[in-house]
Amino acid sequence: MKSIDLHAHTTKSDGTLTPAELVLLAKESGLAAVAVTDHDTVGGLAEAREEGEKLGVEVVPGIEVSTGWQHTEIHLLGYLFDPAAPELTPAIEWVINDRRERNEKMAALMRADGIPVTAEEMYRRYPESTVGRPHFAVKLMECGLASSVKDAFARYLAPGQKYYVRRNHIPFDRAVEILRDSGGKTVLAHPFQYRFDDGRLRELLDYCRNVGVAGMECLYSGYTPEQEKYLEALAGDYGFLVTGGSDFHGGHKPEIKLGTGTGGLRVPYELLEELKK
Ligand code: AMP
Ligand code: ZN
Ligand code: FE
Ligand code: FE
Repeated sequence: MKSIDLHAHTTKSDGTLTPAELVLLAKESGLAAVAVTDHDTVGGLAEAREEGEKLGVEVVPGIEVSTGWQHTEIHLLGYLFDPAAPELTPAIEWVINDRRERNEKMAALMRADGIPVTAEEMYRRYPESTVGRPHFAVKLMECGLASSVKDAFARYLAPGQKYYVRRNHIPFDRAVEILRDSGGKTVLAHPFQYRFDDGRLRELLDYCRNVGVAGMECLYSGYTPEQEKYLEALAGDYGFLVTGGSDFHGGHKPEIKLGTGTGGLRVPYELLEELKK
């Protein structure tokens, strides 16, 4: 039975492996396919595809878009779209510009507390990456203010903490439309991350179905077999395809392994075949 991973990040957003390194790891991990789903960028797809052709690993073009729905940040995965589609570029530029303004605000808040950091320094250190809070988290660690990326989020970068600055988000339905117009399919990412109760989750799923979302990420790092079953049943109720992935970030989330997540994850190749239909 062939296994895959449909959710992974590279240095083009906030992962620590380059796209080529990620594909090599997929090969070494025995995966038949890996989707590169960097936050708000398609910058890693060409390199990953090239490496995949070399190594004989199927690389699925992907993206993870941060969108807004009823004042909540919801992550939407896009797959199998054309990275060069004309609809995609202006949307991504809008997000990058918004992130740029936010990164400058975050850096200014830190400087006001004596932390020597500028957004420009981050862009130099992480060229061509979608720079965001995880990169600032590393800086806070280096300054001795946090013991890990997670700790930096808890103390400084999570909503309500002192260096948190809100981003603006593309409306959920607009992101779905752009990805569909680019020839792709969309999937609701990690449904438990939003901390919704059953009623509110169903409200979101209703909305997802109405705007044309194709699938739901039911298999995900740390989800128990019971949680997976619950999500698969929901996907059945709403007619969504089932997908799965680890949300691998390399060293930024060392507890998550490509393909197997925190240990129990396994995503069968058949789910990718369904997604391609
Ligand atoms: P940003 O897009 O700049 O707002 O950063 C969000 C990203 O930071 C998420 O996609 C995660 O990869 C990461 N992240 C969010 N919360 C945490 C946390 N508590 N600990 C570690 N990483 C986190
Ligand atoms: Zn991330
Ligand atoms: Fe996410
Ligand atoms: Fe992710």
